[in-house]
Amino acid sequence: MNQTILVLGGGAGAVVTAVELRKTLAKNHRIVLVDREERHVFAPSLLWLMTGDRTAEKISRPLDRLARRGIEVERGEITSIDPVSRRVEVNGRVLEGSFLVVSLGAERVYAIGDVTGIPLKAGKPLPKAGVFAHRQASVVARNITQAITGRGETTSFDGHGECFVEVGDGRAGFGSGTFYAEPAPVVRMHRPGLRWHWGKVLFEKYWLRRWF
Ligand SMILES: Cc1cc2nc3c(=O)[nH]c(=O)nc-3n(C[C@H](O)[C@H](O)[C@H](O)COP(=O)(O)OP(=O)(O)OC[C@H]3O[C@@H](n4cnc5c(N)ncnc54)[C@H](O)[C@@H]3O)c2cc1C
Repeated sequence: MNQTILVLGGGAGAVVTAVELRKTLAKNHRIVLVDREERHVFAPSLLWLMTGDRTAEKISRPLDRLARRGIEVERGEITSIDPVSRRVEVNGRVLEGSFLVVSLGAERVYAIGDVTGIPLKAGKPLPKAGVFAHRQASVVARNITQAITGRGETTSFDGHGECFVEVGDGRAGFGSGTFYAEPAPVVRMHRPGLRWHWGKVLFEKYWLRRWF
C-alpha cells in the first residue's frame, strides 16, 4: 500500500529523516516535508555568521532543493497537528500522513530533536543539539522503513553524541560520549586546538553537501 510520511520541520532532524526515508523507501511512498522557512540553516555556523566569517547564503540551502531527491516540500505555517488522525493544517490546507514525524502521543507519531525533553538519570535533561536530532532522525527513518517494508530490525536512540566547542582564535575543543550512561553521562573532552576547528569546518561542508 502506498504510504505518505509527513515530516514536520526543515531543520536537522526533519532533513535527515526525509533524506534517509527517501533512500530506503520505494518511490510509490510519498515523503512530504513541511516548513515555514524557505531555507535550511546549518545552525552551528551561525556563530561564524555573527563574526562575519560566513554569509547567510553560505550556511544555508533552499529546502526546495530536496525535491531533486524525490522529497515533496511544502512551505507554510503549521497551525494544528492532530496526532491521532495524523492530520496537520498548513496555511489552511489539511495534509494527512500514514506516519507523522514530530508531535506526540499516538502510534506512528514520532517526536525528535529540540521538540523533545529527555530527562537523564543525573537529573539534567539531554542537551538540545543537532547531533541528537540527527541520530534520532536516523532511528526514526529506520523504524518507519521497517514498519512499512518489514526489512531490517527496529532500533532505538542510544544517547551518544559529540560536539565541537569553538574557543576563538581559530581553535576548538571536541567532546564526545554517551549521555545515557548511568549514574552520569560519560563524556571525553579533547583539548582545544587547530585541528578541531578545522574538523568543524569540514563538518559544515559535509553537512551542506550530504543533505542537499
Ligand atoms: C547558534 C547555534 C549554534 C548551535 N550549535 C550546535 C552545535 O555545534 N552542535 C549541535 O549539535 N547543535 C547545535 N545547535 C543546536 C541545533 O541547531 C539544534 O539542536 C538542531 O537544529 C535541532 O534540530 P530540530 O530538527 O529539532 O529543530 P530545528 O533545526 O530548530 O528545526 C525546526 C524547524 O521547524 C520549523 N517550524 C517550527 N515551527 C513551525 C510551524 N509552526 N510551521 C512551519 N514550520 C515550523 C522551523 O522553521 C525550523 O526550520 C546550535 C543552535 C544554535 C542556535
